[in-house]
Amino acid sequence: MSQIASILKIQKTDISFEETEVPNLDQIENVLKNDNDITHIGVIHYETTTGILNPLEDICNLAKKYKKILIVDAMSSFGGIPIDIKNLNIDYLISSSNKNLEGVPGFSFVIAKISELKKCKEYRKSLSLDLFDQWKYLEDTKGGFRFTSPVHSIKAFNQALKELEIEGGVEKRFKRYSNMQTKLLNGMINLGFKPLDLKIYQGPIITTFLNPKDSNYDFDKFYNLLKEKKCVIYPGKLTKENTFRIGTIGKINDKDIEYLLEKIKESIFWNNNL
Ligand SMILES: *Cc1c(COP(=O)(O)O)cnc(C)c1O
Repeated sequence: MSQIASILKIQKTDISFEETEVPNLDQIENVLKNDNDITHIGVIHYETTTGILNPLEDICNLAKKYKKILIVDAMSSFGGIPIDIKNLNIDYLISSSNKNLEGVPGFSFVIAKISELKKCKEYRKSLSLDLFDQWKYLEDTKGGFRFTSPVHSIKAFNQALKELEIEGGVEKRFKRYSNMQTKLLNGMINLGFKPLDLKIYQGPIITTFLNPKDSNYDFDKFYNLLKEKKCVIYPGKLTKENTFRIGTIGKINDKDIEYLLEKIKESIFWNNNL
């Protein structure tokens, strides 16, 4: 987010925290209190580097209190974690076709307050990615795109939305993801793995585990053994801890987690002190 702002030459203040910690609300409030030039707050809801579910409601309350426009990156939460956009008074919520909504990649979308969107007209920074222009064109042409639209992704998205409805909506999907995450976490602990401890902020979509310390352990070898068994895990992305990640997202269920745990058990080639 910060990089995007830099490239677009938008003035910004970064309030950064340790990668395994949730944003400190007092620190944010302090900045808001002392810097009247701030107009917008941008926040990531579900942080996929770690698996942290940020305290969105608290940050929304700060935005309300200080009358700031709130932009939420809900890329990996929308559709899988209930979000009361209206009550939280979110001005812009950004997500995409290919995460919790279980469509194919191809486009992103923004749920915005029209009254706020209209104010963007004079601040455009891009022709092809101009959100106001695209909205206006959709309105004026009853669904037209200014440039070639990702037809196949939109068709697939329509089907994905139907499947979300058949599943029972976002609450049900949230339960499925949460149950899978609990099952994964317990199963991994039983196999001798240590999760990155995110306490109450651990979310249901991605779980980070510490790479075993045994000298025979090798992530690439572990990864490839699992891949041969049709299971794909992610390398870690943390700078201070040596980790890997497992997602509990998409068209998978408890049976798949059981299968994964079984394959992980079969793939342990190091001494895991069990
Ligand atoms: C996945 C993700 C993105 C990037 O999404 P792309 O589909 O790769 O453009 C951005 N922010 C968060 C929090 C994400 O989880």
